[in-house]
Amino acid sequence: MISMSTALPHEFDSKMETPKVSYLFSAIQHLEIHVSGTVQGVGFRPFVYNMARRLGLRGTVQNNSQGVIIHAQGAEDGLSGLLDALRDALPPAARVDSLNAVPQELGDYTEFRILPSEVLDETFTQVSPDLALCFECRREMEGLGERRRDYPFINCTNCGPRFTIIQRLPYDRPETTMSEFRLCDVCRAEYEDPEDRRFHAQPVACRSCGPWLRYLEMTRDGWQETGTKDDALARAVAALKEQKIVLVQGIGGFHLACDARDERLVNELRRRKHRDEKPFAVMFPSEESLEECCEVEGIELAFLRSYRAPIMILKKRPDSVIAEAVAPGNPCLGAMLPYSPLHVVLLKEFGTPLVMTSANLSDEPIAYDVDRALDRMSGIADGALVHNRKIQMFADDSVVKVIGGAPRVWRRSRGYVPEAVHVPQAFHTPTLAFGPQLKNTFCLGKQQFAILSQHLGDLENDLSADAARAALEHFLHLYDAKIELAACDLHPDYTTTRIAEAWSSERGIPLVKVQHHHAHLAACLAENGKSERAIGLCLDGTGYGTDGAVWGGEVLVGDLCGFERIGHLQETAMLGGERAAKEPWRMALAWLFEAYGHRWSELPLHFASHLRTEFAEQSLRMLLSSSLRSNVFPRTTSLGRLFDGAAALMFFGTRRQYEGQAAMLLEGMMASATEKPYPLEVIENSQGWVLSPVPMIRAMVSDLESRVAPDVMSRRFHEGIVDGFTRLCMRVREATSVNTVALSGGCFMNAFLLTAFERTLTEQGFAVLSHQQVPPNDGGVALGQAVVANARREG
Ligand code: ZN
Ligand code: ZN
Ligand code: FE
Repeated sequence: MISMSTALPHEFDSKMETPKVSYLFSAIQHLEIHVSGTVQGVGFRPFVYNMARRLGLRGTVQNNSQGVIIHAQGAEDGLSGLLDALRDALPPAARVDSLNAVPQELGDYTEFRILPSEVLDETFTQVSPDLALCFECRREMEGLGERRRDYPFINCTNCGPRFTIIQRLPYDRPETTMSEFRLCDVCRAEYEDPEDRRFHAQPVACRSCGPWLRYLEMTRDGWQETGTKDDALARAVAALKEQKIVLVQGIGGFHLACDARDERLVNELRRRKHRDEKPFAVMFPSEESLEECCEVEGIELAFLRSYRAPIMILKKRPDSVIAEAVAPGNPCLGAMLPYSPLHVVLLKEFGTPLVMTSANLSDEPIAYDVDRALDRMSGIADGALVHNRKIQMFADDSVVKVIGGAPRVWRRSRGYVPEAVHVPQAFHTPTLAFGPQLKNTFCLGKQQFAILSQHLGDLENDLSADAARAALEHFLHLYDAKIELAACDLHPDYTTTRIAEAWSSERGIPLVKVQHHHAHLAACLAENGKSERAIGLCLDGTGYGTDGAVWGGEVLVGDLCGFERIGHLQETAMLGGERAAKEPWRMALAWLFEAYGHRWSELPLHFASHLRTEFAEQSLRMLLSSSLRSNVFPRTTSLGRLFDGAAALMFFGTRRQYEGQAAMLLEGMMASATEKPYPLEVIENSQGWVLSPVPMIRAMVSDLESRVAPDVMSRRFHEGIVDGFTRLCMRVREATSVNTVALSGGCFMNAFLLTAFERTLTEQGFAVLSHQQVPPNDGGVALGQAVVANARREG
């Protein structure tokens, strides 16, 4: 979990040589050490303090706005011990990005001290993400006679809320939502004792001075507070045991909780939330209980236990006690372990897994203000377990899946945000990228850091757009970012484009518009520290193309500055426009029409007869009429839509879906044995290469006619996509001599596609880049926009 820049060992070596030479003359050395990275709010100074004292060193440690500066004086052994510790033994959430040690004249130090923060002009402090409950606090909660036994707000320098409670910088208690709680004498003594693990832990609290719980019940007259702060938890647990749905205030927002084993109840929650079939996350009381329900490997468990404590996407066990309605038809489950002390006591008392899903209505942002949450959840929750430590800024649970042995972030929020991504070309001026429309995040770029916002969701309604604006204001204020360059998507109708245009023109700031898939490519390059030309294999659902079409099966060649579209999936019409994304049968029909023309309706397929019974002949003809197809409906090259169409043709029929559902089910039903890939044809035309799935559609139809098993067909489909695009990449390499392929776009959430492309392209001699720090889906697009705007500015 600890990462250091690759330049680090070299710095250590070169800078350490000088003290070694002068060792001949004096056993005592003085080093001035500059450390930058995530080093504030993560227990870094007490760590240095204690380490230095243990090693018999004298000197000082101090925060400044660029990181931490250490003066360490003592024997060479002690000094190298300190440098080793800074490399190998950091507190869990600390991240050292650069470390520079320079020998100095001996100073007049009598002891080792922590100095008050120094404020420099060029303020740019990195803020720590929220940290899941640490092992020591967890043990303290369990200890008999401990004054914080079972206290739901226990924390220390290694754990507790950070990003979500900070109002201003520097990170000190008065600048957080803990400012309204006066420390009691015992807590203050801990807070002031450098040897205590709560030394300068800003949210430190105990039962007598810190936040407390309240329980409310929904009655005919609205929310009624019942009981006292001492029995609030017990009341919530009792309600959950009586099959009630309870609103629970967490770290970065509110969850709706209910018994995850109760089929009827989970369906009831779905009904009240107006939630389609999108899976709910489940929190397990213990690792054992999680392992009973999911298959979990070492790296997954390590992530669940880490300070990030995300939702991990795990394979469900067939004999699991979890209700089918939690993730209908889905072989996977989003699993969490209790990551805040409140969750620990709640799950301990309840004893079995709880559904823990964000407290919002479908498509609305997560609620994070108590009164608003109560108000908005009044028709949904029966009870509410809330507290009085305010959430300053919301952050959903992050979502991570291990694919190909590496963690892939699907939703980057709590535990990640606002940790910076290092970019290969430092930002010339403070830059702000507004991000895409769906799975929106925005990105602040300053110096060599790109700071992505938390997941802001789909900005399709006013509430979401308001939440995004609030988050943006908070970030700009927090980082005191004097933005001089802005970036947004090329799409003229995106909410984010309109916000970006208004925002930048009000301030007279230049706005760079970045094509969606170029941003994907650039994001993948940037997070991998690359800036040279690469082939961007950008496979996703929707992105506005330079020709106005809906792109999403793109082979680009480009760098951070610009790109050329060299190949793409064959175009077809999105029958019915945007509705085609919700109703996959429309894409199946579009592709059948490409392959068979009007003869599609004579095919002896379930799908065809299904359509004919469900829709009037007339309306289907209308949909396929040449005037609509060529003049009204958007054209698309989206691979996501091809997945939708294939799924509809095979088994999904005329059902409606949530985004990506049909594709996910198609992946889920895939045979484990290799099958012959469906054929896709690479066609060269004046603009480049086109990959045509028409031969594949014909092969699928013939497999359907001869009743080939769906899992075999799904496998052939996946193999076909990998085979087709790999051949396309090889043609592009022949033509351009570019040998690096960057994999980006929402389709790379498909574990098979990601691993198969990585393997096949590597076998063909390509250098392959993929995402780990930011999502492959649109959650990473803002990063790409920011680095492209910056690169263009330079040129
Ligand atoms: Zn702790
Ligand atoms: Zn206290
Ligand atoms: Fe995308």
